[in-house]
Amino acid sequence: MLSNPAFFPAGAAAQGACGTQSSGQATWPSSRAGAVLTIDLGAVAFNYRHVAHRASRSICAAVVKADAYGLGAARVAPALEHAGARQFFVAHVDEGLALRQHVSARCGVTVLHGPRPDAVADCLAHGLRPVLNSLEQIGWVRDAARKRGQAVDVALQLDTGMSRFGLAEAELRRVAGDPALLEGLSVSLIMSHLACADNPADPANAMQAARLRDYAALLPPAPLSLAASSGVFLGPDYHFDLVRPGAALYGVAPNMTGPNPLRQVVRLQAHVLQTRALNKGDRVGYGLTWQAQGPCRVATISVGYADGFARQGAGTGCVWFRGVRLPILGRISMDSMTVDISHLPQGQLEADGMVDLLNETYGVDAVGAAEGTIGYEVLTSLGRRYHRIYADNPAP
Ligand SMILES: *Cc1c(COP(=O)(O)O)cnc(C)c1O
Repeated sequence: MLSNPAFFPAGAAAQGACGTQSSGQATWPSSRAGAVLTIDLGAVAFNYRHVAHRASRSICAAVVKADAYGLGAARVAPALEHAGARQFFVAHVDEGLALRQHVSARCGVTVLHGPRPDAVADCLAHGLRPVLNSLEQIGWVRDAARKRGQAVDVALQLDTGMSRFGLAEAELRRVAGDPALLEGLSVSLIMSHLACADNPADPANAMQAARLRDYAALLPPAPLSLAASSGVFLGPDYHFDLVRPGAALYGVAPNMTGPNPLRQVVRLQAHVLQTRALNKGDRVGYGLTWQAQGPCRVATISVGYADGFARQGAGTGCVWFRGVRLPILGRISMDSMTVDISHLPQGQLEADGMVDLLNETYGVDAVGAAEGTIGYEVLTSLGRRYHRIYADNPAP
């Protein structure tokens, strides 16, 4: 919908589109898709600078795994590099290979999962820094370094309590006690990951930071890293030498303790396919689970669970039109959902109008709460069939 020009002004939003958009009524070149996803690279850059400023004594990397949390690493990573990022993190070797095409050669690319044996050669040939999470991975990359006859730059992950990735304490002590195990490996980062950083009051945070310090002291000195997005907002005790934000760059709130200081990055606008008036007793959707208690008006909109809007979101979820909340009625279908428009003045929203599913005031965290999940999952679930527009809006 175009009635809220304060968010993504028309001129800015048209950048990167395959056509332009006139002011006033929608003349989207995007009418062939069910919905329009606008990704504000200006907001991504703002968020990067905000996080980097919070951890100004550390290097601020950027995590762009999962195709930049679903927003398109090909567009997001260059915007982050332009904003100052020089270190990027992905999960898989494949993601690293793809990212190499979108950031300049001066940028470091680190692969969080490290390589499996068959992928070590590709990883090193493309200058990707592997995170070594296990004794097995250390062995595979050490063998490759010996074959190459030159030291290989690696990051080493230590488990400080999450039991997910990294060397357990006993393994670390083995490595520390036998320098031959790291032969040919040049450890340029020692990292770990916080399990409870979104809750600043959780004692696990300080415990993990202390363990990282203690464990790293057993190894030759190297830069340390612990904080992802939420960890940055725990304060300087958690910043160490490098911070690794992902979600915060894309507008997800780092914790629930105050207002979200980050800008929303995505706006999702769906086309209205049709509207109709219902009488008391009429039912809506698969299973006829919703029933009108009196006369009302409903609209069918062109986004469904195949577009990343979880089926269980019905009942608590809503969409928006000019600041009016339109509750989702009944079950969400694969390609559509039905919403209550009874509270809009008659004639204001008709077939061919648009509603907001995500916007500045109702962002990924709010949708996550309505769907019983988190903003991270809302972002990474956003569908592939939206018409995507990359905007570059300046700070408000
Ligand atoms: C995904 C990930 C990050 C980024 O986490 P956010 O919470 O999105 O900031 C950082 N470090 C590791 C190891 C990760 O897996």
